[in-house]
Amino acid sequence: MSFQDEAQCDVPRLSEKHSGIPDFLLEKARAAKAGIFETRTKQKTARSRLPALPPGVEEKIFNDAIDELSKELGADNVEKNDKPLRDGWYMDHPNTHDLMTVLDEEELVPSAIVYPSSTEEVQTIVRWANKYLIPISPISMGRNFGYGGAAPRVRGSVLIDLGRRMNKILDISPEDYTCLIEPGVSFFALYEEIKAKGYDHLWVDVPDVGGGSIIGNTVDRGVGYTPYGDHWACHAGLEVVLPTGEVIRTGMGALPGNNTWQTFPYGFGPYSDGIFSQSNFGIVTKMGLTLMPNPGGFESFMYTFQKEEDLHQLIEIIRPLRISNILENVAQLRHVTQSIAARGRPRTDFYKGEGVIPKDVVHKAAAEFPVGDHSWAYYGMSYGPAHIRQHKLAIIDAEFKRVPGARRVDPATLPADEYFWSRDRVAAGIPEIDELRWVNWMPNGAHIAFSPVSPIRGADATKLFELARRRHDEFGIDLFPAFCVGLREMHLIVELVFDRANAAQRKAVMDCLRCLIDDAAACGYGEYRTHLVLMDQVAGTYNWNDGALIKFHEKLKDALDPNGIMAPGRCGIWPKQYRNRGWEMTKESGENSQGDGVAPPEKK
Ligand code: ADP
Repeated sequence: MSFQDEAQCDVPRLSEKHSGIPDFLLEKARAAKAGIFETRTKQKTARSRLPALPPGVEEKIFNDAIDELSKELGADNVEKNDKPLRDGWYMDHPNTHDLMTVLDEEELVPSAIVYPSSTEEVQTIVRWANKYLIPISPISMGRNFGYGGAAPRVRGSVLIDLGRRMNKILDISPEDYTCLIEPGVSFFALYEEIKAKGYDHLWVDVPDVGGGSIIGNTVDRGVGYTPYGDHWACHAGLEVVLPTGEVIRTGMGALPGNNTWQTFPYGFGPYSDGIFSQSNFGIVTKMGLTLMPNPGGFESFMYTFQKEEDLHQLIEIIRPLRISNILENVAQLRHVTQSIAARGRPRTDFYKGEGVIPKDVVHKAAAEFPVGDHSWAYYGMSYGPAHIRQHKLAIIDAEFKRVPGARRVDPATLPADEYFWSRDRVAAGIPEIDELRWVNWMPNGAHIAFSPVSPIRGADATKLFELARRRHDEFGIDLFPAFCVGLREMHLIVELVFDRANAAQRKAVMDCLRCLIDDAAACGYGEYRTHLVLMDQVAGTYNWNDGALIKFHEKLKDALDPNGIMAPGRCGIWPKQYRNRGWEMTKESGENSQGDGVAPPEKK
């Protein structure tokens, strides 16, 4: 497909494709696509680094192995990744590489992509991988943008795209408020199905953009914005194919004939689910999820705060309100620069100079928009019938207004396309696509996150904000911070937005992130989630007692995956075949993600 054809083809619909857009978001998705392609200059380029082979596997053996797998799964379900790389965009994303690449785009690419249709076929692939010692890397949808997208950590791995053919909603229980799903079910799809069935008493919690798979988001411990926002905490029961090919069901799923798999997550004995999130210990083929009851009413609210220094006092106010559930959802405190970028316009509309966008330019722009000038904007939602909301909103109002200059923004004054309304829908469990807009800040816009966790304390918020500002200034990157406040902790999410066609910008972003991670660790802060290329560094900061936790993960890895075939390196966990061979990515690795081969198979 040519660049022009790509720009013009329509958005895939959910009725035609598991990863498509629901009809109610179609026009918005078309507009989002137009905005993205308006400033895109990056074209499809010929491949210069072919073939991408699994480490330690000769081309002839690889080709024979692929032929064998094609016979098992059908030729249409096994594809070599040897064509030019087409970026597409969020709704039409590639599984051949990371669309938002921060390295040379041919670095983290699979050798082939396979599409199983059942748990049995996933087992077949895993056994095949063990036979040929070929690393495999599972994705559900591959929309984990900012964290590596569909890319494998080891170049030449075989990607298992589970979602294309395993995308059924197996069950929705309107009595238990639970569901059971396959990997290819997106938040869009589950939301639509619940609506189609007329289950108005059930809500789905959705992340900022609803196109990702629920299983992928949950195992990577992604969040949403209703009171059920901690997706991992809300899952109930897994079916997992282990790295040696056996299948297990966790929790009550292990008891034949049970009807409690989705209602009691623990079952009996050790709670094993944890080892299947942010790891490389298995492939999740089914997952149960609890659904939120419709709270019988909801109301979004927004406050703005004038000074950056208000952050300290504000976070101190938020903590007791959040812990006591007066503030009920994972609310967001966003910086004004992000408010400007959320309008979806390129940075050059506001500022054409070099270096970071000056503060006065940002404030002048903010003053002209409906929300008005501010330094921080708080987006929250109150749930329940009106009289209950009123009680909570009155407390919130009195508390927030203790900050001098705090202002409640009256939603009635905001136009329909204001970002506030997209936060309103997301907090009410209605999937959205607006969040993509701020990526247009840069041409060929891509993003990668720095996301440290801290207690909900003013001193921590200020320290992290200043740390981020210092490094962004040093590397000439605009700062987009947002604090997402959980129940007893907050994630600071800083999205670094860059032009992925600009090698110097990619390098600045990587250098900045590496410094941020080390700076944060030196103050006792760690990331809750990270991009593939930063996983070794982040895992390395969790090193108490001479790296005891990392050693424990390695022990599990070697026991569960003796041939080291399952997503080697994911979350900084390397199988023994790869250890001490320079595979870990560090400050010095530059664009190179590869080490010095793998250890030969042990003699039996
Ligand atoms: P999204 O939900 O955003 O589309 P992905 O499918 O890209 O997310 O999944 C994010 C990451 O989670 C993947 O890179 C992979 O490491 C892991 N993952 C996703 N699905 C599975 C699965 N079914 N089993 C095991 N790991 C998975």
